[in-house]
Amino acid sequence: MRNVYFDNNATTMVAPEVVEAMLPFFNELWGNPSSIHTFGGQTKKHIERARGQVASLIGAEPSEIFFTSCGTESNNMAVRGAVEAHGGRPHVVTSRVEHPAVLSVCRHLASHGCALTEVGVDSEGRLDLGELRDSLARDAAIVSIMWANNETGVVFPIEQIADIVKEAGCIMHTDAVPAVGKLPIDVSKTPVDMLSLSGHKLHAPKGVGAIYIRKGTRVNPLLLGGHQERGKRAGTENVPYIVGLGRACELAAEHLEEQALRLKAMRDRLEAGILETCPDVTLNGDSQHRLANTLNVGFKHIEGESILLMFDDLGIAASSGSACTSGSLEPSHVLRAMGVPFTSVHGSIRFSLSRYNTDEEIDYALEHIPRIVTRLLEISPFAGDRS
Ligand code: PLP
Repeated sequence: MRNVYFDNNATTMVAPEVVEAMLPFFNELWGNPSSIHTFGGQTKKHIERARGQVASLIGAEPSEIFFTSCGTESNNMAVRGAVEAHGGRPHVVTSRVEHPAVLSVCRHLASHGCALTEVGVDSEGRLDLGELRDSLARDAAIVSIMWANNETGVVFPIEQIADIVKEAGCIMHTDAVPAVGKLPIDVSKTPVDMLSLSGHKLHAPKGVGAIYIRKGTRVNPLLLGGHQERGKRAGTENVPYIVGLGRACELAAEHLEEQALRLKAMRDRLEAGILETCPDVTLNGDSQHRLANTLNVGFKHIEGESILLMFDDLGIAASSGSACTSGSLEPSHVLRAMGVPFTSVHGSIRFSLSRYNTDEEIDYALEHIPRIVTRLLEISPFAGDRS
């Protein structure tokens, strides 16, 4: 049986070079970086090297990078930390299509007295910039808008958004978890104040992330304790994972453009093949402004879970929603916010590629998908209903 992994927006394989970079930090260089002795000093210098590697991928200064345990922690820190540093109960602005790691934080803050605006998107998943401007006219203080959507791959015009937000005098955070390592990002040119990233989406392990905080941005720490990460994030540093994240960022930077072109070619071939051969299928999301690795399609009248099970029998892994919501049959909040018809939402499948995918894997998927879809349509109780 084949082993075809098309679920890289959920998580990625740790790159062999990353594993290699991490290994010495388990039983050779295992000192506590805060210690004064040589054991500590040895590991500290590798953390600083990793900080430089992360910074360089996104155009930041190393001193503006703080290591965390994951993208979720970075998002929590950005939004909660900025609200706490602001004081009072400021107006928080986000979008309806954010990952739960932002959306539920904002809703939690709203339940504690902050005003909250969730800006909508159009049918192709594009942010309503008029609504964003209107919301900022009402004393907004903290804005959190993602760089690219993890379910559809739709990329927001983040430079334009950040300009609008900064003109209104607000703090701008962006959840760039799906975008880092896939798109060129340069925070020296894009005026975001904070940016979240996560290791396991770019071939580093799960359990490590980082937050970029522009110099001068007021944000309180989430974890209180020791003085690690210059007082911004207490807890003894996870040295092997931080080293792994640094190496993964270095690899991503080396291959960014060439990989984006290769992934786009494979993704476009998969998309064209599916749209040509399957009945009643639509593309979810803006076809132009999309991450090169992501394809989200809605198969009308069939259940995404049934497709995934048949894929699984063939060794193909994809996803029927965002990683964190799959496993529940709740329809995707992203597709609902886009107004995707109910008949397609339930049959929506996300394919997300990585640099480890091959053209042969695309051929293999295209060989089987039409048969699977035809078979499921034959047994679907809804297939006659063309609503
Ligand atoms: N933000 C987005 C857009 C994501 O896709 C994810 C994970 O799927 C996260 C945040 C959470 O990252 P982590 O799994 O590192 O907590």
